[in-house]
Amino acid sequence: MNLILLGPPGAGKGTQSKRLEDKFGITQLSTGDMLRAEVASGSDLGKQAKDIMQAGGLVSDEIIIGMISNRVDHDDCKNGFILDGFPRTVPQAEALDKMLAEKSLKLDHVIELTVDDEAMVERICGRYTCSKCGAGYHDSFQKPATEGVCDKCGSTDFTRRADDNAETVRNRLNAYHEQTAPIATYYGERGILKQVDGMAAIDDVTSTLENLIG
Ligand code: ADP
Ligand code: ADP
Ligand code: ZN
Repeated sequence: MNLILLGPPGAGKGTQSKRLEDKFGITQLSTGDMLRAEVASGSDLGKQAKDIMQAGGLVSDEIIIGMISNRVDHDDCKNGFILDGFPRTVPQAEALDKMLAEKSLKLDHVIELTVDDEAMVERICGRYTCSKCGAGYHDSFQKPATEGVCDKCGSTDFTRRADDNAETVRNRLNAYHEQTAPIATYYGERGILKQVDGMAAIDDVTSTLENLIG
């Protein structure tokens, strides 16, 4: 099963992708995570992407399409994948269609998490993750059971993204509305777009998604 989770920064794509991975045995492919790994490794690609990400802009379609095309061929995608943060532009969506056709794969669902922009600022500014296992948390909405200790792996080391601040979020939300929102129309016209209320509680969003795709 191959899915796209669509929605602005903070909509819950990463949070829900991780839950769907566990439940359906499919793999989350986050272009944001891939780019952050490139930045951390100091690769040429990472150097090109770093300042753009820091400013909340979009990295070039060519870089992104190349990254994804290699990744879907890996073994862990044989049961399917969840695209999180890709495609983000109409050219990326077109390139994805072409790439999937070449690999004889298809998209089963494109699901848009619909949310209020204003709430996204608070979500993004309170977001942090476990440095060891990548589990996601929030200062108010998703605290670990024991403060300062990861529920999943017991680590006490957490990180916050450099671009998760109020200023960058505005640019990222603008980029979403200008460049990414048109792809909802693109998939709507193809009859595979579904919308889910992303303002509901995290567990309720998960149940709705599971019912929709399961
Ligand atoms: P995205 O991947 O779409 O940018 P995340 O899944 O990282 O978004 O969620 C952003 C932040 O908001 C995280 O800290 C997460 O814990 C929190 N969050 C996610 N979904 C919800 C929700 N439905 N209600 C409240 N907070 C949420
Ligand atoms: P969020 O989860 O908050 O929506 P991501 O982790 O998906 O953010 O992306 C972080 C940054 O990486 C984006 O602001 C953008 O600069 C870059 N990026 C990620 N995916 C793409 C993409 N498909 N196309 C262009 N830029 C991307
Ligand atoms: Zn952890």
